[in-house]
Amino acid sequence: MKRRDLLKQTAAAVGTAVAATRSAVTSAQQVNGPAPIQAGRKFRAFIRTANGASVREVRMRALRDDMVAIRTEATQCCYTIVNQALGTGAVGGAGGTVPARILGHGGVGIVEAVGPAVRRVRPGDRVLVTNTPNCGECYDCTRGRGDICQMNPSAGEPLIPIGDLDDGTPVHQHNNTGGFAELMITYDWYCVPALTNASAAELAVLGCVGATGLGAVTTFVPVGFGESVVVMGAGPVGLSAVQGARIMGAAPIICVEPIAARRELAMKLGATLVLDPSVEGTRLVPRIRDLCSDATDRKRLGGRDATRDSDNRGADYVVTTVGADVVSPKVERGPDPTGLLPTRQAWEMTRAGGHLITLGLPRGEITLPAGAWSNRGRIHHAGQYGGVNAKADVPRFVKLVDQGLFDAKAMVTATFPLERTREAFQAVGDRTTTCAVVVL
Ligand SMILES: [Zn+2]
Ligand SMILES: [Zn+2]
Repeated sequence: MKRRDLLKQTAAAVGTAVAATRSAVTSAQQVNGPAPIQAGRKFRAFIRTANGASVREVRMRALRDDMVAIRTEATQCCYTIVNQALGTGAVGGAGGTVPARILGHGGVGIVEAVGPAVRRVRPGDRVLVTNTPNCGECYDCTRGRGDICQMNPSAGEPLIPIGDLDDGTPVHQHNNTGGFAELMITYDWYCVPALTNASAAELAVLGCVGATGLGAVTTFVPVGFGESVVVMGAGPVGLSAVQGARIMGAAPIICVEPIAARRELAMKLGATLVLDPSVEGTRLVPRIRDLCSDATDRKRLGGRDATRDSDNRGADYVVTTVGADVVSPKVERGPDPTGLLPTRQAWEMTRAGGHLITLGLPRGEITLPAGAWSNRGRIHHAGQYGGVNAKADVPRFVKLVDQGLFDAKAMVTATFPLERTREAFQAVGDRTTTCAVVVL
């Protein structure tokens, strides 16, 4: 059976169930007033304290008027959380140091209760809680940069305690959303409708990494049909960028990745060529320049200057997703654990007038030739969350999953229950799996 037919068939069944839930909620509300605020409710969560991270029981505080309680279905294990999850980094993160922090920055789930001031979602809705908020009202949201929305704790929004541990320690959530917990208690500006019957694990991919890579090349900096794209790194963000470039009709799509299994996945998901940076060494940049050249590369024929050293040669778009290693990989290692070398190479392989999109988290400082940086027309786009405006863009990404154009299923390489969250992060840190998802 075709995927689309299967979806139609199950959508009908799920639609009926959702409608039944909604009408039950509506009639309960008619009789009893608004949905009950569930103060005192206990739930399990993966929590970081000064003693490390583990699954603990939380007693929920009264739901604030402007917050939503969501029963979590699944959450993806992002590499940026590995340090916190393994208890190896300092206790901290966006919003400052708090005594107990539920880890995670979003996921997918079903709305269970809403405070009276919440307007966007209602009980029974399936929603994606996204990595960055998109309030629609702040300076950045009103200018189309929801990815740097000021309601984000990284922009100064305070973390709100939503519960307590048995010993009375207040519990906060990473990003004011958490994710590795039976409940996410958050503001409605983190919630995007995901009214689909796609599996929870697939949707969880879109919460952070999928939207980041896909958004970077489709909505943030739409890559051109038939233009060349290089993606540095085939982790979940890079693989999503590869898929986005495929959907946009780019060619060639070259993916640079040291791990063989990930190169294989990149080919399956749309790369036209993969390269191992450890094998290429210092030849990597000239090789990419050659590969991005065309048979028509004669200046007066509309092509690039074919002179070997010309600054005009290189990729039209380069997306780098490579960051610093926070733990030593147990598989093939990249050429530089700080991520600086691939970032510098990404700039070098971007042709004059081309676009460089940086999505990774390298460590340290980078030097570039000032003249070429200042004058040669390369445009640098720094994407927080891939430049995505969650409310506008994520529903479109959900559609791509539903239509089988964005293959989220192939990207989920391992699933774990909540109790094994730490193990999931160990595998992500070791890079023995590409994209792990905790399914509740
Ligand atoms: Zn993330
Ligand atoms: Zn905003």
